[in-house]
Amino acid sequence: MKGTTVYLGIFFGLIVVSEAGNWDIYKNKISTTLELSPNELKTLSPVVNVLSAERIPNGLVKATVIMDKSIAASRNGQRLFRRGNSGNSSSKWIETAKKIKQEQERLQNRKIFLPGMNYSEFDFNTFHNLTEIYSFLQVVTMTFPEKTNLLMIGQSFEARKILALKIGNHSTAKEKKSILLHGAIHSREWITTATMLKLIDELLNNPENTDLLDDIDFYIIPVLNPDGYEYTWSTDRYWRKSRHIDPETGLDGVDLNRNFPTFWAPATNVTGPSSEVFPGFEPMSEIEIISLDRFIESLGKNLISYWDIHSYFQVIMYPIAAKCHVRGKHFKEHLKASSIFIHGVKEKNGAEFKQGTTCDLLYPASGTSFDHFYLERKVIYSFTVELFPKFDDTTNEFVVELDKIETATTDFISGFIPVARYLQVKIHSGFFDHI
Ligand SMILES: [Zn+2]
Repeated sequence: MKGTTVYLGIFFGLIVVSEAGNWDIYKNKISTTLELSPNELKTLSPVVNVLSAERIPNGLVKATVIMDKSIAASRNGQRLFRRGNSGNSSSKWIETAKKIKQEQERLQNRKIFLPGMNYSEFDFNTFHNLTEIYSFLQVVTMTFPEKTNLLMIGQSFEARKILALKIGNHSTAKEKKSILLHGAIHSREWITTATMLKLIDELLNNPENTDLLDDIDFYIIPVLNPDGYEYTWSTDRYWRKSRHIDPETGLDGVDLNRNFPTFWAPATNVTGPSSEVFPGFEPMSEIEIISLDRFIESLGKNLISYWDIHSYFQVIMYPIAAKCHVRGKHFKEHLKASSIFIHGVKEKNGAEFKQGTTCDLLYPASGTSFDHFYLERKVIYSFTVELFPKFDDTTNEFVVELDKIETATTDFISGFIPVARYLQVKIHSGFFDHI
């Protein structure tokens, strides 16, 4: 009881501070009134300011709190708002909100990549917003004009560019093979974009990769879902889907990695338009997916490998994702390549990635990218990778601490490059000429 009194005293103390302060600091904030236990209120304290708190019956506290709009707009924030006055609060949301707040503080001191900066001034060990990433891609092409091309493969729902960087040495070979990779089909998975940017650096600046660029063109799309990515920076850090919003139908974004036509499944009642995994009202309804599919179709049979990068779980998955206990007819090759991947990761950083189909490792998933590109576009080596952290790392999950970025990106690169080398040997052996 004594503890409670002291604790409430702290919050009542805050009222004085708030009222004496400058209210302009609250212009990007929003308030709500909650009924919750003193301990719950204490847990909330890192992410909210308490404007008033009073004890009410049942041992609860009625508190008016104020928080950043960006936190309030998050899905969990909205849930908390809806529950305001109900006496419930979500401990999961509190943990998430704390993580977001801590990340915002970490990013305040990050090295922003500004127009006019050089390649060497780009910080690979922090996160960057879309403007910075697109500026950097321009700088890459100016720094390595003989090896790179920047391509716009399409536009997003909100008319942002979807950019692919092509990396490869000029070749006289008529049909040079290629590998395509992308990050951030799910916008909150920032580490995937950081990894794509680091891979660009690895391919261009590590001289050991020169011969890879002779034989293979790499197409790297750091942000496949630019609207969602932008939204995670401006409004809701945990936004996963596209920003295709339609109030008339209740559409609240589409899970782009459920919108591919292969094994597409209509949403059931359980997954209505506001669901995190809403697949769209029709297969291939989303412009981001149409853009990617058209681009991959244009690469034809020269595209030998496709990589859809996600976080988190530390796994490499091969087809078939939509059905359990079903493998693709190239299963042995999938197993071989993914074994090379997990061996490479382990050797470098010690991380233990797992391999298997999506059903083996997570759950069956319909309408996914790599089922589509494997079965319909005949890209034999099609994979989905879930990066750092492990499934039980509740400290990092989607919000990765800055000092973990290097390990996370190196994990992927040390698995991927050996697979690219394996495919290079396959190219030289004529393997792809007979398919
Ligand atoms: Zn994902």
